[in-house]
Amino acid sequence: MLFGRSKKNPIKIADKGVVEWQYAACGYCSTGCSIEVGLNAEGKPVSSRGVADADVNRGKLCLKGIVEHELFDSAGRGLIPKIRDQWHQPWQESTWDAALDKVHDEIVRIQEKYGRDSFAIISTGQMLTEEFYTLGKLTRGLIGTNNYDGNTTLCMASAVSGYKRSFGSDGPPGCYEDFEHTDCLIAWGSNLPEQHPIIYWRMKEAQEKRKFPLIVIDPRVTMLAQNADIHLPVTPGTDVVLQNAFMHVILDEGLEDKAYIEANTNGIEALREEVAQYDPTTAAKICGIDEDSIRLVARLFANAGAAMQFWTMGINQSTHGSDGVVGINNLALLTGNIGKPGGTSLSITGQCNAMGTREWSSCSGLPNYRALENPQDRADIAQFWNIDPEFFPKKRGMFQTDIYQAMETGQIKGIWLIATNPMSSLPNTSRIRKAMEKLEFCAVQDCYEDTESAQYAHVYLPAGTWAEKEGVMTNTERRINLVKPISKAPGEAQPDLWIFNRMAERFNSDGKVTFPEKAPDIFLEMGGLSKGRLADISGLDHELIEKHRGIQWPYTEVQRKNGEVPPKGGKRLYTEPTTFRYPDGKAKLIPLPFIDNNEVPDEKFPIWLNTGRLVEHWHGRTKTGKIGENNKYSPIPFIEINSDLAHELGVLEGEYLRLVSRRSDAIVMAKPTQRVPKNMVFLPFHFHDCANRLTLGLLDPHSRQPAYKQSAVRIEVIEDQMAAAKLSMEMRKF
Ligand code: SF4
Repeated sequence: MLFGRSKKNPIKIADKGVVEWQYAACGYCSTGCSIEVGLNAEGKPVSSRGVADADVNRGKLCLKGIVEHELFDSAGRGLIPKIRDQWHQPWQESTWDAALDKVHDEIVRIQEKYGRDSFAIISTGQMLTEEFYTLGKLTRGLIGTNNYDGNTTLCMASAVSGYKRSFGSDGPPGCYEDFEHTDCLIAWGSNLPEQHPIIYWRMKEAQEKRKFPLIVIDPRVTMLAQNADIHLPVTPGTDVVLQNAFMHVILDEGLEDKAYIEANTNGIEALREEVAQYDPTTAAKICGIDEDSIRLVARLFANAGAAMQFWTMGINQSTHGSDGVVGINNLALLTGNIGKPGGTSLSITGQCNAMGTREWSSCSGLPNYRALENPQDRADIAQFWNIDPEFFPKKRGMFQTDIYQAMETGQIKGIWLIATNPMSSLPNTSRIRKAMEKLEFCAVQDCYEDTESAQYAHVYLPAGTWAEKEGVMTNTERRINLVKPISKAPGEAQPDLWIFNRMAERFNSDGKVTFPEKAPDIFLEMGGLSKGRLADISGLDHELIEKHRGIQWPYTEVQRKNGEVPPKGGKRLYTEPTTFRYPDGKAKLIPLPFIDNNEVPDEKFPIWLNTGRLVEHWHGRTKTGKIGENNKYSPIPFIEINSDLAHELGVLEGEYLRLVSRRSDAIVMAKPTQRVPKNMVFLPFHFHDCANRLTLGLLDPHSRQPAYKQSAVRIEVIEDQMAAAKLSMEMRKF
């Protein structure tokens, strides 16, 4: 008789007839996994697999990556340019020339009538870096509007702002390898297993070997919190109070790294004065963490040989997101945990190429962390691009979140949306809808023609996506990796780079600005502009990047000439004393007074609304909502609701509820759980016309990033469950 495994049928992996594997970096999240797509004999993408010798993922992929090849022929792809006179009229199919002429003519008309800055351009973190650079050159160098931003403002702006305030420049200083050297790890508002599964695997593997304590600070018992040694369920919006209390204990008990502070920072006295007010007893009453836990974690962190912090949207998407990042940096600087193995403050980025847009898009300034406010930076770029330096504005324009308010007031009359979908992703959807309706002209450039925002467009430009194009992306740890064309864009759709170059021809009739046609040539041009900068990539080219499955910047031409092999690039920033980017080379310790400026629960709206991601979906589900293997796990909007609260309301698992905020309402399905406290619900933000009907969108004063994660709702029980189910179905787009 056979027992156990020998009796079971072996797992069989279907033979998909792959005859060739082609290389790319994954196009979803910022982890930056290397992927190979399998093509069958007809050249059709039929399979995906992780690349074994890629340092980031070492052969693994998450649920999204493993079915990424299905993206190429997913529903809703745009096949042909379209035009209409009014946004509510039926579309007319167009030629590329007619569609591009119309966009050009409308930009010129609006700028001539209302001024250069009355036309806005908003891009994304989804494109390839050479595309960002080209769009930046077109926008800053030829079109000349200052109201140009990326949807990264919704995601990473607080991290950018916090790094700039603390270190004098953007640029995450650490890397994934730091997990393998750290002695203590704090995760702030980050649910790695669902948001960045492969980074989680890297962290978990290191933790199992080294047994460092993992401290998770999050109001919700996330998957990461379930795996933590210590979970601190902080009251939403009070991270700065907890950070100040940690620093109070560290300074009070003399646990700070005095030599590091003296050599590398300014501002210790002002910081000491501020955090003196945040003794653990006082802080506990505000942030909801008991004083013993505050002392324990502060001592664990400060006494560790090397201590690391990382964070994502729990910190960034807040009215004090930038302060929260500065608080993390303060803690790292106080304890000498920057630029050493296992000692870092690492912002884990969102979109696959959010870092590329930060480095090269010119959204908030000029290429490679240059500032519009700096005359030398303006002069350098003007000379390189062959334009008049006076054409550049002398300070950055509006952030994306301010542009929509300017549309409401009539200050912005036209917009070009590129691979972004504000009708899904911006808070308080009804307000955005009214703003979009007021536009005189809207162009949408996207690989899908059925986005919510395309409803308001006068021109639709069908773009290629991911591995239908060629170029690089930068991941969370500053690793530049390559995407190569695996499939051709469908119908008449064209790569974004092609679209930008054709648009540039229309604004560059005298040909004085050069726009290279091929991504590898553009990358070399960028390398020339990067020499001597923080993000120096002058030693890199596409071929070298692919050979090594991604290389971290900086990697200079001098390193390459010196034959540094393998060219792993810069694992860490600020490894040498006084190399921060302020003129004296020192970082700033910045006092952070706590200002309680969130919407908080009250009698009418007594429940915190917390929003976030699921592992199977990507942002607005524009892509994953159309891929069966992703969508089937979470096809409808639901909330995590505390089991005791559900019991008191008489709500069973799977029943529909109505969430009501001061803005609007949404129908969601109940999923009772103890992962959220009784005064909180968690609502995944992926679903069309749902979470952002409710969110308030107060903005951080430094980064202008919305506070998606902290607003107030009430719960209404629905008697007619059939009607609610029908409504929920109607609200579901896909
Ligand atoms: Fe792609 Fe991110 Fe998943 Fe890696 S972890 S396969 S980069 S979605």
